[in-house]
Amino acid sequence: MSLLVRNLDLFDPLDAAIGEQETMEAQLAVLHEHIAECRLCPLHAGRRQVVPGEGDASSGLMIVGEGPGENEDLQGRPFVGKAGELLDRILEAAEIPRETVFITNIVKCRATETVDGKLQNRAPLAPEVNACRPSLVRQVEIIQPKVILCLGAPAGRGVIDKGFNISEQRGQWFEGPYGSMMMATFHPAFILRRGGAGSGARELKKLVWEDIKRVRERLASG
Ligand code: SF4
Repeated sequence: MSLLVRNLDLFDPLDAAIGEQETMEAQLAVLHEHIAECRLCPLHAGRRQVVPGEGDASSGLMIVGEGPGENEDLQGRPFVGKAGELLDRILEAAEIPRETVFITNIVKCRATETVDGKLQNRAPLAPEVNACRPSLVRQVEIIQPKVILCLGAPAGRGVIDKGFNISEQRGQWFEGPYGSMMMATFHPAFILRRGGAGSGARELKKLVWEDIKRVRERLASG
């Protein structure tokens, strides 16, 4: 079960250009240059920068979040705001250095809505996720990670299954493409939104920690 199936034109010029590159880094660079020009869905209109993703092109672990937020949109890098800081701390505690991971999102441009006159993030819509999926499929094809870790329910629904239920299915393994295994856990931003003592954030952190330990075990297994 995976939504990351190739449903692309075998003779797409982009695939030909990627195929001409000798290293995974060069292949990703060609793909990311293409993503930087993408206008396939309405999200391109509101972006300051595209956020294709970053990290080790030969990583065993790909982390997939929901989409860029304000800081990511400003810097063109994934997970650099407060949620990114929490993700860094979680990875550090698991002794998985961030630079050894590849981090991206199900959509590469920030999704926003205006509420009470203020621009704020929103979850990407299904047509936006579908439009952006070929970029994620190509990233997975190039990197071929051992583990794909989805952060948050939208990422689980965009990568694992359209009916993915994070309350019931987080922490479970699902078969992914190229022999990978996929799992979803709670998004760091969801934990941060819960706030302080008595909010349930502590329990969520414990569950995320259990999931990360299982990811670490699978990465270490043969
Ligand atoms: S979100 Fe994805 S599909 Fe939409 S414009 Fe950005 S890169 Fe293209």
